[in-house]
Amino acid sequence: MPGSSPCMLEKPHTLPPEEAARRLGVNPATGLSNEEARRRLEICGPNVLETGKRKGFLEVFLEQFKNLFVLMLLAATVFSFYVGETVDAVLILAIVLFMAILGAVQEYRAERILEALKKLASPKARVLRDGRIVMVDASEIVPGDVIIVMEGDRVPADARLLEAKDLYVDESTLTGESVPVHKKADTILPEDTIVSDQINMLFSSTYVVRGTGKAVVTATGRNTYIGRIARMVAETRAEKTPFQVELDRLAKRIAAIVVLIATLSFIIGYVFQEADLVDLLLTSIALAVAAVPEGLPAITVIVFSIAAWNMARRNALVRRLAAVEALGSASVIATDKTGTLTVNEMTVRQFHTPDGRVYITTGEGYRLEGGVFEGDKQVTAESSPLLRLAGLVSILNNNAELENGKIHGDPMEAALLVFAHKLGMDLTQVKKEYRRLREIAFSSERKRMTVVVEGPEGLLVLSKGAPEIIIERSTSYMTIDGSEKPLTDAEKTKLLEQVENIAGKGFRVLALAYRRGDKRDLEASDDVVESRLVLLGMVAIIDPPRPEVPEAVRRALEAGIKVVMVTGDHPSTARAIAEMIGLPRGRVVTGQELEKMSDDELKRIADEVMVFARVTPEHKARIVRVYKELGHIVAVTGDGVNDAPALKLADIGVAMGRRGTEVAKEAADMILLDDNFATIVAAVEEGRRSFDNVKRTVLYLLSANIAEVATVFYATIKGIGTIFNAAMLLWINIVTDGFPAAGMAFEEAEPDVMKRPPRRRGQAILGKPQFTYLLLLSTIETVLTLSFYHLYAAELSPAHGRAAGFLALMYAELAQSMALRRLNTPLSLKIIPSNRQWLAGYIVGAILAAISVTVLADLFRIGSLSPVDIALIFIVSHVAVLSFEEVRKRLGLHV
Ligand code: ATP
Repeated sequence: MPGSSPCMLEKPHTLPPEEAARRLGVNPATGLSNEEARRRLEICGPNVLETGKRKGFLEVFLEQFKNLFVLMLLAATVFSFYVGETVDAVLILAIVLFMAILGAVQEYRAERILEALKKLASPKARVLRDGRIVMVDASEIVPGDVIIVMEGDRVPADARLLEAKDLYVDESTLTGESVPVHKKADTILPEDTIVSDQINMLFSSTYVVRGTGKAVVTATGRNTYIGRIARMVAETRAEKTPFQVELDRLAKRIAAIVVLIATLSFIIGYVFQEADLVDLLLTSIALAVAAVPEGLPAITVIVFSIAAWNMARRNALVRRLAAVEALGSASVIATDKTGTLTVNEMTVRQFHTPDGRVYITTGEGYRLEGGVFEGDKQVTAESSPLLRLAGLVSILNNNAELENGKIHGDPMEAALLVFAHKLGMDLTQVKKEYRRLREIAFSSERKRMTVVVEGPEGLLVLSKGAPEIIIERSTSYMTIDGSEKPLTDAEKTKLLEQVENIAGKGFRVLALAYRRGDKRDLEASDDVVESRLVLLGMVAIIDPPRPEVPEAVRRALEAGIKVVMVTGDHPSTARAIAEMIGLPRGRVVTGQELEKMSDDELKRIADEVMVFARVTPEHKARIVRVYKELGHIVAVTGDGVNDAPALKLADIGVAMGRRGTEVAKEAADMILLDDNFATIVAAVEEGRRSFDNVKRTVLYLLSANIAEVATVFYATIKGIGTIFNAAMLLWINIVTDGFPAAGMAFEEAEPDVMKRPPRRRGQAILGKPQFTYLLLLSTIETVLTLSFYHLYAAELSPAHGRAAGFLALMYAELAQSMALRRLNTPLSLKIIPSNRQWLAGYIVGAILAAISVTVLADLFRIGSLSPVDIALIFIVSHVAVLSFEEVRKRLGLHV
């Protein structure tokens, strides 16, 4: 590739488009070949800003040692070695290494999952390769690629425009200027034109607000304008979830307390009991290390990334880990209608003329079979000038395409094409006969679309849109014989009632209108062009609810989640669909009413609203804000560019994977790959499940830690000396925390996850009930441990007492991990095998515990226990913990 650098074309804005393409070595008509693109990708590197160095396993492993407590342990090892306790030293070292490996494996896996998810959710770009338009990962774009951008696209790289149609680009990310820039392909600019004036260029990271464009890529990745000014833009750090922050804080507090207790027991032991200094020091250090829950915040990452993975398998791609947590607490889901609640497969079922005739259309979906009937009589465009014009609007005021039952573009427009075909019109022929001279594009705010076309009868203005708007803009209507009559206000009212009627049956209603035009319509303002229309009639379109949605709505309601429909459609259509899918009866508030309401008024009725209809994206953001201010955790769906603010504002912004624009996807926390409402509910369930899993792991680890500290502390003040030495404490952590705790992250959803109300905003994970639980459980475990200690110490020897206490604590913890598999409902034996990870951890833990008091007894310097003793301790610990838990659950002491 000629030019200053093989991966970049300098000053492309000074070149004519063809020259830019030539210098970049590409034919604009066909784009690069796949092979050439691959070659350039190798030379120039991927089109990404940050190099995003991937952490290897070794790095993750070494990071485990960047931890004060591990360093303390290593110091303890050296110390033990120094004072001649070689066995202890080796044991501690082995255990530390093992824990580091275990920690690293978990973290590494979580990171890989997140990375894979990131890849799945990566932005896409439309590019011409080998003469065909394909979607590729934006990271695979190379200099010389010919890209095609349209409304809602994020521009993937810097590019010189080859063609631009009505193209407006928001460049606020680069220039701070929020007014979209009108781009033009056919200008050549002086060399010193500043970026914000380079209207023949597209820049990476900006986005298309309107229109379409074709451009040749001049720079990618770090060579782009944004890449150059932002070389320092480091990868955004994974932000912590509120849960993580809470756990962080908690872990710090506990650490402080534990260190305090460890110091205290050291002082007491040394001053009052005159215990062995070396032993005391080692125990204190080990106590601090074993009991400090430094792994607590990491648990959320592990559990939530597993959840994110599960969600991805269920078609919900999470972009921020915090969203998993938020999903678990979602209390309001504000959802679009079209395509999310409905199948978005549209069929025109009826055509109503202004003078009250009704035509029925037969046939389903986008298949071309079927016809239009008045009673038993089939009609065609030839039957009446009115029907012919309705067909013309359907074909020409339309950007969709139909190809063997497959559609491209807006499904509603595709339905209109099918309708025109059923009227006996030849779509290709009509498109050839009429040339489009102007388009006034559809937007959710305008709720209408107009084209000016030139055909055999001269210029025609063809409009379609929301009936109230088209009727308002019409001054006359056409009768079936083709004559035009003035439209009085009384007739308008009657027509609107008729619309109400049709919409009330769940049909989407769209009005069609036309007007003879002239040259002035090419220059006049949009408003002028779209006035003095002649109403042709209304089409009634059916878009049935997705079959799985009523069940999903029922589940959401049962889970205490408010589902509210937010739609641009007519209130009556929206209400009918809302009723079909089983939303509880409630108010239908229109965008117009919304505008008149103050926030306070809106808040007062917010709970009763079933549907917000005829709303714009701006209203949507306000709705989200109001529900949030009411204390709700809000999920909202969106697909358009203008939905981005609402998506960002919501606790969980949900973008549509299929219909959604790149901008919406980028603003969202989660992407629905199948655009389906039921997937949101499934994700909520997964969120709640992972919430439970974090909770059970935290409760488990903390009560075990408290019991350990309490036992050691008791032993010190009682003058028993070292019950558990450093190695033993670490061993307990491996046996109990390492194995079964890791399995807890995989626990299935409890049967009642979707039957309880959502968590309230700001509600702590560890509140009073949880602290009570911790206190009670750690007391039981401590009492068990000490009882066995005393029993065996009295009967056999203190060394046997220590072994018995050691084993009792481990078995009590294992029993607790079993009980916690159901947080608040009684256990049944049936569930035991359902979580294989946990079961394996439990069995390995139980065996390791038994080994430690037999084979390894000498190493730990404790007495060796007989199989009968082991069985006895196993049974007693399990009975004690499990029966306590069963009683707690039955008493309704929920955690
Ligand atoms: P939802 O918000 O649930 O997706 P919607 O598709 O009706 O529903 P919008 O896309 O905001 O919402 O459309 C608003 C209204 O604009 C529609 O109800 C329809 O009357 C009109 N409309 C939609 N698409 C077009 C179009 N391509 N041309 C003309 N009018 C349209």
